[in-house]
Amino acid sequence: MSLEHFDVLVIGAGISGICAGYHLQTECPRRTYAILEGREKLGGTWDLFRYPGIRSDSDMYTLGYPFRPWTSPKAIADGPSILQYLRETAEAYGIDRRIRFGHRVKAAAWSSGDARWTVVVERGDSREEIRLTCSFLFVCAGYYDYEAGYTPRFEGTERFLGRMVHPQRWTNDIEYAGKRVVVIGSGATAVTLVPELAKAAAHVTMLQRSPTYIVSRPAEDKIANWLRAHLPEKVAYGISRWKNVLLGMTFYGMSKRAPSYVRRLITDEIRRQLGPTYDVEKHFSPRYNPWDQRVCLVPDGDLFDAIKSGRASIVTDHIETFTEHGIRLRSGEELAADLVVTATGLTLKVLGGVGVTVDGERVDLAKTMSYKGMMYTDVPNLASCIGYTNASWTLKCDLTCAYVCRLLNHLAKRGYRSCTPRVNDPSVSPQPWIDFSSGYIQRSIDMFPKQGSRAPWRLYQNYALDTLSLGLAPVEDGAMEFLA
Ligand SMILES: Cc1cc2nc3c(=O)[nH]c(=O)nc-3n(C[C@H](O)[C@H](O)[C@H](O)COP(=O)(O)OP(=O)(O)OC[C@H]3O[C@@H](n4cnc5c(N)ncnc54)[C@H](O)[C@@H]3O)c2cc1C
Repeated sequence: MSLEHFDVLVIGAGISGICAGYHLQTECPRRTYAILEGREKLGGTWDLFRYPGIRSDSDMYTLGYPFRPWTSPKAIADGPSILQYLRETAEAYGIDRRIRFGHRVKAAAWSSGDARWTVVVERGDSREEIRLTCSFLFVCAGYYDYEAGYTPRFEGTERFLGRMVHPQRWTNDIEYAGKRVVVIGSGATAVTLVPELAKAAAHVTMLQRSPTYIVSRPAEDKIANWLRAHLPEKVAYGISRWKNVLLGMTFYGMSKRAPSYVRRLITDEIRRQLGPTYDVEKHFSPRYNPWDQRVCLVPDGDLFDAIKSGRASIVTDHIETFTEHGIRLRSGEELAADLVVTATGLTLKVLGGVGVTVDGERVDLAKTMSYKGMMYTDVPNLASCIGYTNASWTLKCDLTCAYVCRLLNHLAKRGYRSCTPRVNDPSVSPQPWIDFSSGYIQRSIDMFPKQGSRAPWRLYQNYALDTLSLGLAPVEDGAMEFLA
């Protein structure tokens, strides 16, 4: 039986999958493609997360697509506006018509003889199994498990009489007005939730084991808004994008070169916001250096305002046990709670959980080395979109999509059927994929591929360098094997 065949199958219709669709139809117009999306809606992260206050924690000039200007005055945007932007982008370019919703990809098997992937899909509620084939598989499935977030085991949760929810599972029926709320966590989700819940709750306590670096930035970018008022839309957007890329790179570079100075800058600013009597050292001064873990961004200092107003507070301590009415801490203090929100992170997942085989052999991604942060040693015709950890996700995705298109055009031009990264230089040594000390990375680092000690195996996490290495470097580089 002949199966429906595509030149390219994209997995996932979030920011990355829509980006892939745009590049494929613009730069490889003769190639057939479809996007397989497991859910019934597009948008991925921006459709899944529904907790109060959900917003970006990087600016939209860099989280938005270079080909579709972000025109709202808010640079730090709320989740519904980002979702609308993604829907409008998909509609404007007809990408939405290429999406097959309710198609969960379970497995992909490469046959070198046929030079194609056979993709096993579970379709719809009935979970009917169908198969499709493609010449190139482009995984744009994000980096975490949609089924469940990460919640550590806490003593005594079964005794707790209030409600407990992970932000990934937030639903509209969760009441917090007038309630005592404890948000466990200190990452981007916790600092987003606390000021928003504090608007209506009786009190919100952010309970953290250890502090995170928090930086306040204006929600509206005055320069970007001025540029948009005075220049053509695309020109203004391009300038704002590069301005923010360079600002981000400068801040990251300074954090690596002069960590003590940057630490002081950040904590002095918080002291200025919260006043001299607030214990900034205890609640806002992490044990690690800035950018050893992701730095959290708060728009217009909203978290600090919530603390100053008395509607929210921070407690830095360890949980001893849940009790009937709240949480008892190691210090002996007890936090009364009607609602506990476990903003304790995501469960990471590689390649959207798709089981990959090459000529019948199962691929263990952890045993591979990543090529330019997008392909994997000895795995032909497969790329994945994984964004930056120190800048907006879309910056790297856009470069990856453009590179995949260059690769596809090269294959077509030379009559090649496959391309496979091979480590043929013994001096390239394997290194961990990411040097972040964050818990969510360290918990899952064993699932991830390695990076190599030098190009094209090295992950630079640097948009300017990647623009050169992905935008201009020749695709025939000695590390990629091409076969007819
Ligand atoms: C709450 C939150 C806020 C964030 N804020 C920012 C931010 O401000 N800036 C930033 O740079 N990053 C941010 N991130 C990271 C964020 O996930 C990325 O920016 C971006 O949204 C990822 O897009 P994506 O398309 O790669 O993945 P996702 O948004 O995760 O989309 C992946 C899609 O693939 C589908 N899929 C997965 N597996 C399969 C499968 N096997 N078969 C079929 N379909 C599948 C999913 O259903 C989903 O629709 C945030 C993350 C979270 C959780």
